Amino acid sequence: MTNEYNVAERLMRYVQIDTTANPESDTTPSSSKQFNLSNLLVKELHEMGIANAHVDEYGYVYAEIPSNSDKNVPVVCFCSHVDTAPDCSGTDVKPILHKAWNGNDIVLPDDTSVVISINEHPYLKQRIGDDIITASGKTLLGADDKAGVSIIMSLANYLVTHTEVKHGTIKILFTPDEEIGRGVDKVDMKKLAADVGYTLDGGERGSLEGENFSADACTVTFYGISAHPGYAKGKMVNAQKVLAYFINSLPSNHLCPETTEGYQGFVHPVQIQGGLEQATATFIIRDFETARLKDHEQLLTNLAEQAAAHFPGSRFDVQVKAQYRNMKEVLDQHPMVMQNAIKAYERAGLTPHITNIRGGTDGARLSFMGLPCPNIFTGEMAIHSKQEYVSVQDMEKAVDVCIELVQIWEETQ
Ligand SMILES: [Zn+2]
Repeated sequence: MTNEYNVAERLMRYVQIDTTANPESDTTPSSSKQFNLSNLLVKELHEMGIANAHVDEYGYVYAEIPSNSDKNVPVVCFCSHVDTAPDCSGTDVKPILHKAWNGNDIVLPDDTSVVISINEHPYLKQRIGDDIITASGKTLLGADDKAGVSIIMSLANYLVTHTEVKHGTIKILFTPDEEIGRGVDKVDMKKLAADVGYTLDGGERGSLEGENFSADACTVTFYGISAHPGYAKGKMVNAQKVLAYFINSLPSNHLCPETTEGYQGFVHPVQIQGGLEQATATFIIRDFETARLKDHEQLLTNLAEQAAAHFPGSRFDVQVKAQYRNMKEVLDQHPMVMQNAIKAYERAGLTPHITNIRGGTDGARLSFMGLPCPNIFTGEMAIHSKQEYVSVQDMEKAVDVCIELVQIWEETQ
């Protein structure tokens, strides 16, 4: 059944279309070449008989597969992104299929210094015998997220050719510019009209991501007192020295990106700037529990207070700006979204491995825009690099999961 998916053939074609996002541009999509893939996807959806598929002026592809069930089934959306990361070239990608890979180092022909080995990529050990797709050494592969695109296209084709598979209304959404943080900026949620969603943009087979950081930005500013340096005795207060004292008082063995993992949060100075009269540190604050962001911000306030007290005459203020929130807060209100995904993994023969994302995702933003949206694996690995690879069998497994998932939503109504 899996060969029928054609998912490898799709990926090999889609990655040859350059869709690199451009962070310097303010247009949507940020690079007009992203339309080349979006337009092709619409054409292929039309060929499958999905006549409503279309791309809008911003490069978003919308399509709907009508329900074939008598029941009132929640509308399920599958979402992935067509752009690739600007960190690594996506021009003239030459995909290579390593059939039934034997576990030996993969030396990429266009730059033999690029070697993909089990040593550096331990996940590959589990993939010996799979068909592995790589780039050729000069570019990224673009499995992030054309693996997701291919999986959704294969799902669509399967559903329209297997009408015995019962499902509610299925929506398909392909977005531009995810890699530059704008993937959901121009989604028309009204038009999408979906109840629940799943992004296909995860890595290892079996992984299911339903949590991400909650995030604030925080600015701590110190104010000093200026004076002529030759006659400053007893008058001058140097804001830079207050800031340095403050930075030095930050925890160094916990609450830092470099000392935390898993569910641990952090306070992280990303930039400092200033002069004699005013000096500022900008922080990002991260935790999986939104309430704990407040604790971290209180810690910064307490340390700033101590620093200012050490330099009489100085003052400080702390500004907090909310950035994004843990999608788990939304998913917990819609428990079936994760429950049905877990069931689908199990029916596809997988043990779901529920993981958290130490960052933000488009699915998180969609969740807070009203579409609860965890992230399903695609097999894309070593993303944003020349060593990027994907297992064909992982992609096929993801199609299996999606086919099970649409049926579970139908059955549980
Ligand atoms: Zn991605």
